[in-house]
Amino acid sequence: MRSAIRRAFLLLGMGLLAIQLAAGTAKAQPAPAPAPPAAAQAVPLDPAAATDAYLATLDPAKRARSDAYFEGGYWLLLWSFLYGLVVAAIFLGTGLSGRMRDRAERFGRWPWLQSLLYALQYIVGVFLLSFPLSVYTDFVREHKYGLSTQTFPVWLVEQLKGLGVGLVLGGLALTALYAVLRRTPRTWWIWGALVSFLFLTVGVALAPIFIEPIFNKYTELRDPTLREPILSLARANGIPAEHVYVVDASRQSNRISANVAGAFGTTRIALNDNLLRRVTPAGVKAVMGHEMGHYVLNHVYKGLFYFGVVLVVGFAFLRWGFDRAVARWGQRWGIRGIADPAGLPLVAAILSVYLFVLTPLNNTWIRTNEAEADIFGLNAAREPDGMAQVALALSEYRKLAPGPVEEWIFFDHPSGRNRILMAMRWKAEQGPSSPRPSSPVPSPPSLTGRRGSS
Ligand SMILES: [Zn+2]
Repeated sequence: MRSAIRRAFLLLGMGLLAIQLAAGTAKAQPAPAPAPPAAAQAVPLDPAAATDAYLATLDPAKRARSDAYFEGGYWLLLWSFLYGLVVAAIFLGTGLSGRMRDRAERFGRWPWLQSLLYALQYIVGVFLLSFPLSVYTDFVREHKYGLSTQTFPVWLVEQLKGLGVGLVLGGLALTALYAVLRRTPRTWWIWGALVSFLFLTVGVALAPIFIEPIFNKYTELRDPTLREPILSLARANGIPAEHVYVVDASRQSNRISANVAGAFGTTRIALNDNLLRRVTPAGVKAVMGHEMGHYVLNHVYKGLFYFGVVLVVGFAFLRWGFDRAVARWGQRWGIRGIADPAGLPLVAAILSVYLFVLTPLNNTWIRTNEAEADIFGLNAAREPDGMAQVALALSEYRKLAPGPVEEWIFFDHPSGRNRILMAMRWKAEQGPSSPRPSSPVPSPPSLTGRRGSS
């Protein structure tokens, strides 16, 4: 789920929108509209042929490169997982974790302070031990494929900001978690899951207001020729939008992206400046329709529910694994029990095994929502060619035409080919030149006759 940049730009002012960052004008200069390939304009339209025609417009060398980037990501998933296990093994096997706990007990008078002090050491430790992998995955590799726009110092500062956020939020969350673990020796896994779920929910709700602005600047979209159709589309779909914001994602990368973030009044639909710069107004509208679909279909809340279930099952697995591991190696690792912060690396390792195994399921949950938003967006924006154009642009970092099993396991969005096919099927059935059934238009009921009656 970790897309490098998930902060993006159009905010829909939903009720309690609390931030209005320094205004500035986004240089929105949409790309000139490329004509859809001939096969995508044929009447009647053959969706499969139109899709192939769209795919054929891509430079094969570029496509091979983006396939290599994306397929490399499959392996990174495995290497990151194994790397994390090695980090946990270092904390536990060398006795480092036990020493960190002892140090926290020396300096901390109260149990909550001890778990906080342990958590802070742990977060810094994980940051340092994971740093070589981060440099490779998030800096070297992104540059190798021409996706990043950052110099190393700028990237490093951003990593340190992320560490700061992690220390504050992680410190808080882990202190609360251990307070609960100490008080519920028998049922800790249920309460632990509940506390984790509460933090997840609060995090989702507050991230757009307190966290995203640490990394990116939001400005209002000024260009009325882009803004007005978007606001109109929002109003038509029952979204109380008043503002369209742009986020300067180009300071990190040249990926185009958009997302919905927040919950309980902070929900916002967002697009980034790369999208404005590189996609036609039809494409922007198609993306907005998609993002509005997430909002209207309540995907944020459904996602919270889904990950709530994932957490409860995960904590049940954690209980099973933790008890067994501690019975066997607890003495050697210096772990006294679940309420002992020194066991945190073990907790992290067990949960990472669980989440690693769950990767295809989590991806499929998200991908299914994404496909729903695609359908909603097509019906709302009525821009199938805009959507095809965006799907092609996304292929810079997402493999365009994977096999079905590959898509099921690794894709958290439908593949580009499937999105274009969906758009072309929509166009064949509902596009301007599609055959429409002639239905008799019912005459409007007389409203004037009712005036005066109550
Ligand atoms: Zn989406």
